[in-house]
Amino acid sequence: MSTALVWFRRDLRLDDNPAWAAATATHDRVLPLFVRDDRLIERAGEFRRRAILGAVAGLDAALRDRGARLNVESGDPLTVVPTIVAAIDADAVYVNGDVTPFGAARDHAVEAALRIPVRRSWGCWIQPPGSILTADGTVPRVFSAFFRRWQQLALPSETAPGTAELMTLASGENPIAEPHRRAADAEERLHDFVDHRLTDYPSDRDRPAITGTSRLSVDLKTGTLSAATAARAAIAAGPTGAAFVRQLAWRDWFAHLLHETPGLVDTAQRPEYAAIEWRNDPDEIDAWTRGMTGFPIVDAGMRELATTGYLHNRVRMITASFLVKDLLTDWRIGERHFRHLLADGDLPQNVGNWQWVAGTGPDAAPYFRVFNPALQSAKFDPEGAYVRHWVPEIAALDDRAVHEPSELGPLELAAAGITLGVDYPFPIVDHAAARTRAIDAYKRART
Ligand code: FAD
Repeated sequence: MSTALVWFRRDLRLDDNPAWAAATATHDRVLPLFVRDDRLIERAGEFRRRAILGAVAGLDAALRDRGARLNVESGDPLTVVPTIVAAIDADAVYVNGDVTPFGAARDHAVEAALRIPVRRSWGCWIQPPGSILTADGTVPRVFSAFFRRWQQLALPSETAPGTAELMTLASGENPIAEPHRRAADAEERLHDFVDHRLTDYPSDRDRPAITGTSRLSVDLKTGTLSAATAARAAIAAGPTGAAFVRQLAWRDWFAHLLHETPGLVDTAQRPEYAAIEWRNDPDEIDAWTRGMTGFPIVDAGMRELATTGYLHNRVRMITASFLVKDLLTDWRIGERHFRHLLADGDLPQNVGNWQWVAGTGPDAAPYFRVFNPALQSAKFDPEGAYVRHWVPEIAALDDRAVHEPSELGPLELAAAGITLGVDYPFPIVDHAAARTRAIDAYKRART
């Protein structure tokens, strides 16, 4: 009789889960385990905590449908995993690998504490980290080069659970009182997207006022959806799926980079930018955080983020650029704030994108590219519907003026019943001057 332990982390599903498939196909008995590690759960912001615990509850429900349950234990995995291994006399532990420095160090320590093999799959990504390297053995620093090779690799084949008997410990802490996020619902969300929004994704994905994207990031973060399953569904839809698959490849790229270079978490990938003299003005950071900068699209985004734990990709770019370039604030401050609030907050994606916006990362936006918030707003929210929804105090302005109320004269503002500085803030910086200041600061750092 051979026995295995499957330690679930950010892969909270049974289908297309390589670790689960391998364990349940290879062993007679398998115990599914989730360790509630408060260094991760309690430190996460409320939206992400609820997403993770909801997915844990959803996995438990899926196991109950099969007459078993998820064994949930609180504590440090370094103690919990060896204890459970001893209790069930396991022959092997199965996991899907993690790329964060914390996750990699944790796994390394747990593995060292065990006397049985730990079998690692890479079910949280499409292509395994380390599988796409240049001739000098490093992850390509240019996304297009990474993507070319990524496309040449076959997608991993879909895995299905085996027939092992599922084990439950008498102790354990179930259930978790959170609304369930079930993998079956995530697959339905995927199919709804593929059937109804995939074709228009290339044009609609930049429009924050409509649901033009998949909204699958939380499922991909918690693993209620396998990224490979999402890619297969988009590819099966034909050429129309290409733009979406490309985004999944960005997700892989940032994971491969962090896996190889853990220092990316808090170090500029381009050393020439390590010396930027950030201003880090507390009042301005506070205004950004509260959505009170006087730039409607920035304020709309920051309010959406704080209220819902989600933010549209285009508006993530605009708000991040505003913090880093217009306010000349260290990107790490913004990265932490986003990661805390986002339900999909995910170290590799968040760090990768913040470094991209700041111009400090691999293949990043050039340092002299500074988004003009009003122009971005007019281009991607042409009717102002997104801005009006989140910044109702200026909703009476017409479609043109709503992007930049400070450009209006007092009479025009009065006609809409708005007094700047009373109903809505004056802009906290002059964009043109801030742009020049940012470019100068970057130039100084480069010399
Ligand atoms: P879709 O457009 O439907 O994309 C499908 C999936 O592809 C996403 O769910 C995501 O997994 C992946 N993806 C899409 N865009 C990117 C991208 N630019 N980089 C990496 N993967 C991408 N995404 C996170 O999942 N977690 C984060 O913490 C995160 N932080 C970000 C911070 C900034 C400053 C920026 C500019 C982007 C960030 N993103 C992050 C990427 C992107 O904004 C979100 O993945 C996307 O908005 C989620 O919505 P969606 O699922 O509808 O995306």
